[in-house]
Amino acid sequence: MRKRVLVLGGSFAGVATARNIKKYCGDRVDITLIDTRPYLVFIPNILPEILVGHDPEETLLMPTVGILEKDGIRFIQARVDGIDLGEGRVRYTPSVRPGASGERTGYDYLVIALGARLAFEDIPGFNEYGHSISDTHYGNKLRIYIEGGLYRGGGIAIGSTRFHSGAGSGQDNMPEVMSACEYPLVETAFALGAWLEDRGIARPAEITLFTPGKGLLSEAGVHVSDEVTRHAVKAGFRIMNGAGDIKRLRSWGIEFENGSDIEAALKIVLPDWAGHDILKGLSITDDAGFVVTDRSMRCKGMPNVFAAGDCAALTVPKLGELGDAQSKVVAGGIADDLGIAGAGHGAEFKPEIIFVGDMGRSRGFFIHSDIFYGGSTSVFKTGYSYYSMKLGFKEVFFRSGARPPSWGVPLAELVAERFNR
Ligand SMILES: Cc1cc2nc3c(=O)[nH]c(=O)nc-3n(C[C@H](O)[C@H](O)[C@H](O)COP(=O)(O)OP(=O)(O)OC[C@H]3O[C@@H](n4cnc5c(N)ncnc54)[C@H](O)[C@@H]3O)c2cc1C
Repeated sequence: MRKRVLVLGGSFAGVATARNIKKYCGDRVDITLIDTRPYLVFIPNILPEILVGHDPEETLLMPTVGILEKDGIRFIQARVDGIDLGEGRVRYTPSVRPGASGERTGYDYLVIALGARLAFEDIPGFNEYGHSISDTHYGNKLRIYIEGGLYRGGGIAIGSTRFHSGAGSGQDNMPEVMSACEYPLVETAFALGAWLEDRGIARPAEITLFTPGKGLLSEAGVHVSDEVTRHAVKAGFRIMNGAGDIKRLRSWGIEFENGSDIEAALKIVLPDWAGHDILKGLSITDDAGFVVTDRSMRCKGMPNVFAAGDCAALTVPKLGELGDAQSKVVAGGIADDLGIAGAGHGAEFKPEIIFVGDMGRSRGFFIHSDIFYGGSTSVFKTGYSYYSMKLGFKEVFFRSGARPPSWGVPLAELVAERFNR
C-alpha cells in the first residue's frame, strides 16, 4: 500500500520536502502538494535584482508545477482552509474562479510548510509611509521609488520590528531571537547604501540601521555581531541597538514603543513573523501559531504530522536554509517509518545559520554560525566571490529546477579559505 503524503505549501521548504520524500521513499508514497501559487518566489535575491533595475516580478518567479510533475508529485493550486487533525483531513478551496466550493482530502503523512504571515498590518502607518523588500510587490515599489526620483534625500532607516515568537521556539533549549529575519536588512543597508552613494543620491551617514535586539545579528554570536557592526560603522552608517517594537511609521520617521525615534524620509522595514490564522488554536501549534515539533520535525503526540520552514517553531531565525535542512530530516523520518533501509538515518535537525549577502560594488558577505544553538562555529567573511556566489546560487536554483547543490556552506567555506584571506 502506498502511503498518502500531503505537503501544504510549495515554496522553499515545501518543494524541497516533497522532493526529498520522493527521493528517499520512491514508489512507496503518493505525494500531493497544495499551494495557492503555482510558482516559488526567489525572495533572497529581490534586493540584488532591484538594484540592477529589474522588476523582481519578472525575474524571480519560478514555476513549480512542471518540476513537481517531473518527480511524480501532484500539485493542487488551492488555498488551505483548515486542518482536521482528528480526522486526518485537510480542507481547501481550489484557486480557480471566484465561487469555487471547498474540498477535502485525507493523508497518512502531513507536512506543514506554509511559511508565516508577515504582519505588516500590525505596523500603523506602514501602508502610507513604509517600504520593504519582503516580496516582489514591495521590492518593485522600492525600485520605482529610488530609481524614479521619488526619493529626494533625507534620512534612511532600515531595520525590523521585534519578533514575538511563541512558546514553541523556546523549547528544547532554543534561545529567543529578537528579529525574525534581520540578515536581509543588514544586506540592504550595505548594498543600497553603496548604490545611493555611487549615484550621488544619499550619503552613508544618512542611513540608520536599527535592531530590536541588543546588537545586529546578535544570535549569530559576538564575533559575527561585532564584525557586522564594525563594517557598518566603517561604511558610515549610524547604528541603533535595542530599538524593540516599532510603534508606528510617520511621514517624518519611525517611532518605537520604548519612546525613541529615528527621523527618516525612507523607511525600509520588516515586520513581525506571525503564525497563520488557520494554524492558530490547533493542538500542534504554540500561542503564536507556529507548529511545535521535536528535532525530528514531528509534532508532539502526532508522529505522522511534520513541519518544515518558517511555520515551524524551531525555525529561528526565519531563514530558508533552515527549512531546507529540515526537509531532509522530514523525508528521512518518513522513510524510517516505512522501513526503507538506510534512507532516514534517524536524522535530527541540527541548526546552523548560513547567509550570503550583497554588500554593493560587487562585494558580498558570508556568515556561518551555530553559536546560537550551542555550537562553536562563528564565521564572518567579506569578498568579491560572495557576491558572485549569491547571484550564482539563484542561477543554479533556476536552471536545475530548484535542485541547488546546497545552501552554500561547503562551497562558500572553500572559497573563504582559498580566495578571501
Ligand atoms: C528580503 C528577504 C531576504 C531573504 N534572504 C534569505 C537568504 O538569503 N537566505 C535564507 O536562507 N533565507 C532568506 N530569507 C528567508 C526566506 O525567504 C524564508 O525563510 C523562506 O522563504 C521560508 O520558506 P518557507 O517555504 O518555509 O515559507 P514561504 O517561503 O513563506 O512559503 C510559504 C508557502 O505557503 C503558501 N501558503 C501560505 N498559506 C497558504 C494557504 N493557506 N494555502 C495554500 N498555500 C499557502 C505560500 O503561497 C507560499 O508558497 C529572506 C527573507 C526575506 C524577507
